Amino acid sequence: MAREVAFTIFDVVGVEDLSTLPRFESHNRETYEAVLETARKIADDYFAPHNRKGDLNEPRLVNGVVELIPEVSEAMDAYREAGFFAAHHDEEDGGLALPWAVAQGASAFFQSANIATAGYPFLTVGAANLIKAHASPEQQAHWLPSMLEGRFFGTMCLSEPHAGSGLADIRTTAIPIPDQPGRYKLRGQKMWISAGDHELSDNIVHLVLARIEGAPAGTKGISIFIVPKRRTDAAGQVGPSNDVRLVSLNHKMGYRGTTNTILAFGEDDSCEGELIGEAGQGLAYMFHMMNEARIGVGLSSACLGLAGYAESLRYAGERPQGRHADERDPTSKPVMIIEHADVRRMLMVQKALCEPALSLCFYAARL
Ligand SMILES: Cc1cc2nc3c(=O)[nH]c(=O)nc-3n(C[C@H](O)[C@H](O)[C@H](O)COP(=O)(O)OP(=O)(O)OC[C@H]3O[C@@H](n4cnc5c(N)ncnc54)[C@H](O)[C@@H]3O)c2cc1C
Repeated sequence: MAREVAFTIFDVVGVEDLSTLPRFESHNRETYEAVLETARKIADDYFAPHNRKGDLNEPRLVNGVVELIPEVSEAMDAYREAGFFAAHHDEEDGGLALPWAVAQGASAFFQSANIATAGYPFLTVGAANLIKAHASPEQQAHWLPSMLEGRFFGTMCLSEPHAGSGLADIRTTAIPIPDQPGRYKLRGQKMWISAGDHELSDNIVHLVLARIEGAPAGTKGISIFIVPKRRTDAAGQVGPSNDVRLVSLNHKMGYRGTTNTILAFGEDDSCEGELIGEAGQGLAYMFHMMNEARIGVGLSSACLGLAGYAESLRYAGERPQGRHADERDPTSKPVMIIEHADVRRMLMVQKALCEPALSLCFYAARL
């Protein structure tokens, strides 16, 4: 995996050339290699070992609290301490000003090691990127530092029980709070929300699509809101519940270790959110995160394929079976299956499908 990532990042995509741009001028191949090596090591030490265990032990709801296997929290600590939540952000924001392509190279290690555990930072990074791109400077100052430190996690709340592909039909409503411009009371239910509840972070920043009372029907009436699980004071300190209730956990194929939730907003009429940007632009803003997630899911698929290739390659080098076609001596030792032409062909098919997919993702990330 490390070889494939290095080859695609440096030799195919040529990420080093980015160091000619002012933002990346303090970086060179050594700094990029150091970041990728750190990611590889954390992925190997903290993500990969519980991949199977996480799959077999889905998140559970115990006395109203989501319980995950403890290894997920340890992996998040290692990820947080290495600064990966902020790595592609500017240095003054606590980041390393890494090119997105290198950040995606690091992400490839986490995704191939454990796609479910990698889901939590995947969503948090995406939510923070949306806030950075579209929220006001005040909102950015309030929410981003905690998200970039990995103290607050993020989600995307689009789907509702009756509205998946057809987002034009969402019903979650937002009612302006008198004398508090930009603040709304949210009410509604969201479905299939990944990382929608857990105890891995001090707070969860939900980005929620909703319809402001009186807004036109269809997608033009959709706005997007920052709705925290727990309220925060002016200094960003976490306070009481914001009336976001976990209705239940969903069980699904794939990503088993990532919580997937039904969330109820405002059952007690006390769920407050902040409008991001202009009313009616919610879907356009959400597509900032959605498109990043789409490419990210593509990268995950390439990473899963590469993880499979790595396992196949290892096994083919360890499994003795049969002899070369021209070997007539039945007492000779069997050869490793990698020596058989058809096994090599199958390995090459795996490699030829997954490596270009990885290159395409890094190429897109470099643009
Ligand atoms: C692993 C996973 C994680 C998820 N995480 C989140 C999350 O974090 N946040 C969130 O908001 N949602 C999340 N979702 C929900 C996801 O966004 C929805 O599943 C998706 O929008 C599809 O909606 P649906 O499942 O209701 O399918 P439906 O909309 O009911 O579609 C069913 C089928 O009909 C097809 N179809 C529907 N409409 C049309 C049409 N107009 N033309 C042609 N074909 C059509 C679809 O392609 C699909 O094959 C997640 C889903 C999965 C599987």
